Amino acid sequence: MLAALPVAEPDPLWALINAFRQDRRADKIDLVVGVYRDASGQTPVMQAVQEAEANLASAAVSKSYRALSGNLAFNDGMSRLLLGEGAEALDRQCTIQTVGGTGALRILADFIAFASPQATIWNTNPGYVNHRPIMTAAGLNVRTFRWQENEAGLDLDAVVADLREARAGDVVLLHGCCHNPTGIDPAPEQWRRLAMLCKDKGLIPLIDMAYQGFGDGTEADAAGLRHFAGQIDTVLVAASCSKNMGLYCERTGAAMVIAPDRDMLANIRATLERITRANYSMPPEHGAAIAAHLFESPEMWLSELETSRRRVAEIRHGLAEALVRCSAPEKFQALRRQKGMFSLLPLDQRQMSRLREDFGVYGTANGRINIAGLLPRDIERLAEALRVVSCAPPLVYAARATA
Ligand code: PMP
Repeated sequence: MLAALPVAEPDPLWALINAFRQDRRADKIDLVVGVYRDASGQTPVMQAVQEAEANLASAAVSKSYRALSGNLAFNDGMSRLLLGEGAEALDRQCTIQTVGGTGALRILADFIAFASPQATIWNTNPGYVNHRPIMTAAGLNVRTFRWQENEAGLDLDAVVADLREARAGDVVLLHGCCHNPTGIDPAPEQWRRLAMLCKDKGLIPLIDMAYQGFGDGTEADAAGLRHFAGQIDTVLVAASCSKNMGLYCERTGAAMVIAPDRDMLANIRATLERITRANYSMPPEHGAAIAAHLFESPEMWLSELETSRRRVAEIRHGLAEALVRCSAPEKFQALRRQKGMFSLLPLDQRQMSRLREDFGVYGTANGRINIAGLLPRDIERLAEALRVVSCAPPLVYAARATA
């Protein structure tokens, strides 16, 4: 068996993370890992989370098995966070706790493969690096549509043109907010047009909500999803608590299926539970129990989340300003209007290597940087590095010029 094992390439993102760890330069800058950092470079445990953990420890609730759907109070709280209090769709949805947002995506991929194996998954290009592997691991076919900017923001004409070939029953994978890796989010009117497109063509939206609260706030960031839930009878949602509660390693997330008819919910739940049962039976309790505490009295958590959100917006603004000051090309100014933790720099692979080798600045090979990982003290230096790398002539001409 092992002799025939195909060679598996190491995960490119983790290869970069390891390269960063081994880099001995004191002034190196890590913009690879998708985690929030405060002004001192730490990824803190939220105060609200610490208090919830202290409560849980003193309550010493039994560690006996939980339900197959996970923590029920958590599931209820997540459905309200995503859809909004009083939403009509709350009555026709089923939410289960999952192992992070990744687990939610995989459970939903298996669900789609179970219900509709012929469906094609339409993925944004560029898109989140793990969407395609998750969908293909479930045996699904993946195609892409362009997700790019024009002067006005998201280039919706490109989306519409590329989705022309999508057939009724296909699934369109959208990012609820803070698109990873581009930071390009639809404007409210564009969400409406996207929903209309799905409705007219009979496409099923799968909305990946990994950054709720990091764009314009928890409510505003869910506006697109909520519009879809109000307009379209079948919507799938994958949600993560990794970023907005800082529960990264607790692996806490949720998968939601919104159905046209509440009579379908029992079978949907049974199917979701059958899928989790064959994977890991039930998800771990701790992160979901913390989140359920936060939902009970959310003020402190929401205020800490708001502080993180503002910090990311300030860093974004600060970097855009520094790029103006050092006369970097105008194309970098798109950073200013993009949302959330990530942006995709207008640099090619060679320029990203140069950034890493000459300046110790680590982003991914396709140009993604984690704005939320940038420290205020590094902003000017990053702006100057971006200017140099983007303005430098291609190496072959540079070599000739010095020859
Ligand atoms: N979806 C997107 C768009 C992501 O960026 C990520 C990673 N942060 C995930 C899903 C997975 O989240 P988690 O770490 O909770 O598995």
